[in-house]
Amino acid sequence: MSRFFSSRYASLTPYTPGEQPKDMQYVKLNTNESPFPPSPGVSRAVAEQCGKLQLYSDPESTVLRVKLAEVYGVKPEQVIVTNGSDEVLNFAFMAFAENLIFPDITYGFYPVFAQLNNIPYEEIPLEEDFSIDPKDYVNQNKTIVIANPNAPTGLCLNLSDIEQIVASNSDNVVIIDEAYVDFGGESAVALVDKYDNLLVTMTFSKSRSMAGARLGFGIGSKALIADLNTIRYSTNPYNVNRMTEFAGAAALSENDYYMANCHTIMENRTWTTEQLQKLGFKVLPSKANFVFAKSPRISGEGLYLELKKRGILVRHFTKERIKDYNRITIGTKEQMEILISAITEILKEQAL
Ligand SMILES: *Cc1c(COP(=O)(O)O)cnc(C)c1O
Repeated sequence: MSRFFSSRYASLTPYTPGEQPKDMQYVKLNTNESPFPPSPGVSRAVAEQCGKLQLYSDPESTVLRVKLAEVYGVKPEQVIVTNGSDEVLNFAFMAFAENLIFPDITYGFYPVFAQLNNIPYEEIPLEEDFSIDPKDYVNQNKTIVIANPNAPTGLCLNLSDIEQIVASNSDNVVIIDEAYVDFGGESAVALVDKYDNLLVTMTFSKSRSMAGARLGFGIGSKALIADLNTIRYSTNPYNVNRMTEFAGAAALSENDYYMANCHTIMENRTWTTEQLQKLGFKVLPSKANFVFAKSPRISGEGLYLELKKRGILVRHFTKERIKDYNRITIGTKEQMEILISAITEILKEQAL
């Protein structure tokens, strides 16, 4: 820290992204990216917009918002698009959060955004089995953020639990982070017209193969979206660049391709879960594009390091409650076969 760094941020601990080592070609199962490339229309759209980069992007991202509204059955004024969904989450914390609550085991950015914006927060412990008890969030009179499915557990709340939480906290905004909803969850977008305090956030990073484009969005009541736009226009009105806007619109025109890929990932998730269970792992039942698993025969860190030596990256967290686990992104069938062979080999060596 330099002597110039503002004391406002002196105690800020930044988010740690998954590692991206460059020393060799890894099988990358550590950041929940899609193993599939974007659809052909995306490259065409990007090439076309490349020739227009002398012009600012549309600060309203109208083409993209109209498409998103169509796909999700809402009005364009109920949609905001952002530079990754991390940005809409940060805007929402800035705009709405007074006292925040979220689970103790969840997306690592929530405490960072809370600290960044000086918002007091409380972490509510998950149940012993890592599930969220919806009762912990009913009638809390606080701003709530819940990832559904949750990360890194992959566990889901059903829509009636979400509705109970939203309905019982009507004087506060409830943010449901649906980064992984396309892999088998139930979306709360169905509730946005009924509850003006519900904001649903989603991303093109996981199910739509565009992590590198940085595109996320939020859906809620018109009034909530207007407030988020006040923050956005006070931060960066051109937050979504023109290549990304049109890439996103092109992806939505080829939505079937992405939904078919999600289906493949879900099949590969079932296969991987079964294989890991055969090897003695405990695997949480995931509705996301990753599984959270631990072996009774090797520590979480040990497995992570052994896999890395063999060219496979998974995500290990050092937090006490989950340090025995690894979060493994579900990739292609071939990648999953490589993973399972490597784990089989590692456990054999352990037994010697
Ligand atoms: C990946 C992820 C996000 C945001 O990703 P972006 O790439 O910024 O869109 C948000 N929430 C959760 C729980 C995530 O896992």
